[in-house]
Amino acid sequence: MDKNLNVTLQHPKDQISLVIARIYGRGLTTTSGGNISVIDEEKNIWITPSGIDKGSLTPKDIICIKQDGTVIGLHKPSSEFPFHKAIYESRPDITAIIHAHPPALVSYSIVRKIPDTNIISQAHQVCGHVGYAEYELPGSEALGEKIGNEFKKGFFSVIMENHGTVVGGTDLSDAFQRFETLEFCARTGIYGSQLGKLNILTDKVIDDFNLQIPKPLPEMDTTSYPSDEREKRFEILKIVKRACQHGLMISSYGTVSTRWRGNDFLITPTGISRWDLQLDDIVQIKDGKREAGKNPSRTTYLHQQIYNAHPEINSIVLTQSPYLMSFAVTGVEINVRTIPESWIFLKDIHQLEFGFQFKNNGEIPKWVSKEIPALLIKNECVLVVGDHLLQTFDYLEVAEFSAKSLVMSSSIGQMYPINDEQTEELRKAFLE
Ligand SMILES: [Zn+2]
Repeated sequence: MDKNLNVTLQHPKDQISLVIARIYGRGLTTTSGGNISVIDEEKNIWITPSGIDKGSLTPKDIICIKQDGTVIGLHKPSSEFPFHKAIYESRPDITAIIHAHPPALVSYSIVRKIPDTNIISQAHQVCGHVGYAEYELPGSEALGEKIGNEFKKGFFSVIMENHGTVVGGTDLSDAFQRFETLEFCARTGIYGSQLGKLNILTDKVIDDFNLQIPKPLPEMDTTSYPSDEREKRFEILKIVKRACQHGLMISSYGTVSTRWRGNDFLITPTGISRWDLQLDDIVQIKDGKREAGKNPSRTTYLHQQIYNAHPEINSIVLTQSPYLMSFAVTGVEINVRTIPESWIFLKDIHQLEFGFQFKNNGEIPKWVSKEIPALLIKNECVLVVGDHLLQTFDYLEVAEFSAKSLVMSSSIGQMYPINDEQTEELRKAFLE
């Protein structure tokens, strides 16, 4: 796993209480459902307690079960301890496990289907193909055996029939990324299915895409950090955290950049969970070079192209939010003439083909502007540009809300867009 210092170097008790708070905060578990464990180097298993409020767990509530079965802690361990143990026994490479009943994955589990992670390239890389464990009584050895068998086949993510999901990771940050990405995939798949037919990428198309990602920029010899540069790092960090907390970004995908001086900018790194991002992870890009020893986003070239082409654009967010992505994975046209706010901010959202930036190198900047700030790339991402970072974030929020209303409206009736006359009236009132 890449650098995830602030989670993985902590004591297992601290890691678990941090991640359970994150999961509960994002609405991915109920107070009573779900459990997390970590196995340490001495083979002690640290696990969430049974029957204690997930909304207020603290490190002292976490239970330790020694290899000889001795239980140390203030409460009873989770009743699902048997399947955690079964997974660790079948997979020495897994050292952290998350189990929960997040709504979209439960939807798949009760219709007895597996979400297809090939709707989005990085989701496939993070989650892999997904296993399926048939129903057994919660807490039973039989359930442990069914789940252990799926993990033995090499899966890191398993749907539990009429129950939920369980994912493993090489550490807890890795497990959380997989868990969050899988639920994101499930949500995107469900919303997309309400709009049309999901477009599934083949493994080969995903591999070819990854091969085309350009090599990182050359490193600079020395880097200076003036105060205005440090201020921009802080702005980026604040927006990333906010986007994660509001479900507009997930740990495994999302890039934020802001222009600094001239066409130089600061950008988020690749390979670090967005939830765990720290100020010094952010990368300075100056005169086409990167800060030494850091790995900027794999989309840095795209940000550079946009800053070079558009002096009026000062910040860029590239992300995956479930409602906008439901349009991007189906190719269904998104009409944001829904309410005045949406039209005033967004006008139109174009959709480009998957991998467009490689087939048409340098062309993406032509598809965004101050007037049309949001763009979808099929099966790939949402791209939003703006002046200052908060404005860009606002555009993203408005776009995601619009997409959400469109998806929700699809089951209650036909959508009537604001007409040309009305948009002309809006233009005169708000944009001139
Ligand atoms: Zn459960």
